Amino acid sequence: MEMIKAPRGTRDVLGDESWKWAHVLKVCGEVARDFGFREILLPIFEHTELFCRGIGDATDIVEKEMYTFLDKGDRSITLRPELTASMMRSYVEHDMNRLPQPLKLWGWGPMFRYERPQKGRYRQFYQVDFEIIGVPSPLADLETIDTSMEIYRRLGLSNLQVLINSVGCPKCRPVYREVLKQFIADRLGDFCETCQNRFDRNPLRVLDCKNPGCKELTENAPSMIDSLCEECREHFDTVTDGLNRIGADVRVDNRLVRGLDYYTKTAYEILAGELGAQNAMCGGGRYDNLAEAIGGPHVPGVGFASGIERIVITMEGQNAYPGEAPKTDVFVVTATPGASTDAAVLVHNLRSAGLSADMDFTGRAMKAQMKLASQIGARFVCILGEDEIKSGTVGIKDMTTGEQESVARKDASAHLAVALTGNPHK
Ligand code: AMP
Repeated sequence: MEMIKAPRGTRDVLGDESWKWAHVLKVCGEVARDFGFREILLPIFEHTELFCRGIGDATDIVEKEMYTFLDKGDRSITLRPELTASMMRSYVEHDMNRLPQPLKLWGWGPMFRYERPQKGRYRQFYQVDFEIIGVPSPLADLETIDTSMEIYRRLGLSNLQVLINSVGCPKCRPVYREVLKQFIADRLGDFCETCQNRFDRNPLRVLDCKNPGCKELTENAPSMIDSLCEECREHFDTVTDGLNRIGADVRVDNRLVRGLDYYTKTAYEILAGELGAQNAMCGGGRYDNLAEAIGGPHVPGVGFASGIERIVITMEGQNAYPGEAPKTDVFVVTATPGASTDAAVLVHNLRSAGLSADMDFTGRAMKAQMKLASQIGARFVCILGEDEIKSGTVGIKDMTTGEQESVARKDASAHLAVALTGNPHK
């Protein structure tokens, strides 16, 4: 029978990589605490309508990439392609506007998009997501970018560039739409089919078309920044000025657009060279009209999502390893089969003292147990033979120096803790 493999676009994160993920999430949790974000856990599936209205019908995600199905009760359900819409749904559903504002929320988990898989692009991928909900201040925009940069800094990443743009607001965007449409109209026939279809519905999206021909055609397109109203201009200047003052490498990118009415003002991406074609490590922006689009009151918000796979690829590309994969401190070896329960008790006691400890369960000969200890990188081996059982001691071998000594078994944990950390209580 043919062996069943994982579906295209999914991947198993194996043991030599999963510890890096744990490190990324630990750092995210620490930064979240330092910046005042609270974690929330949201459903992996939602009503399809949430994403149609919350991301927008005319986006690639909603048009082509959603995993949508009818459940057994004939409801249209979608596996979430991102978290922002769910965050806002949760905020509105739980009347979080009654809590002190702004509300800083973060979450993480798998997202699903039917995209063409390649390095750094998967159909099931993981994001960490940070949102500041409830305030229109540009300082909130700045803080979300600062949050992501702090996460990357603590992960040891460098050479990151912030691309930023403003997509204006319902007051100034229609003006820009017309300016842009006039620019495109003369050459409309030269654009790809998708762009031609979008021309009326969503002309701003023509700017972020990946087709090289379309890119060339819009190279000298007028910039949104030149059409901003006074309020949006001030907002943009405050964010970019703040970014320069915190030392971020910032570039204004006219192509960064979210062509829907509920995305307002700031749009940004953070790029890492190590990622190749899929070089966006983070995407974010402001969405002051999203809550209304999903049936709520007016609630401003801003936030970002960053792909964990891409963070890990960048960590690997920059050799920014968080030390080494966790290793076992102590491996307990038995020199006689009669010592195996004593070995289990010793392993139990070592673990209770905070050490990582392990032993063999398969009846390997002593030599094979020693080999296993060295394969898993144990720093110390505890040896229990007939003499040690009789005398209540244990032989402790330092696997780095090869030195061995005999220690009373009741003192083994403290002795090893000192050897490993310089402290008798690890
Ligand atoms: P977006 O929600 O499209 O703004 O994406 C935010 C971030 O999620 C991107 O910058 C990537 O780091 C990550 N991301 C988006 N789509 C994928 C995907 N298909 N596979 C892996 N990571 C992704």
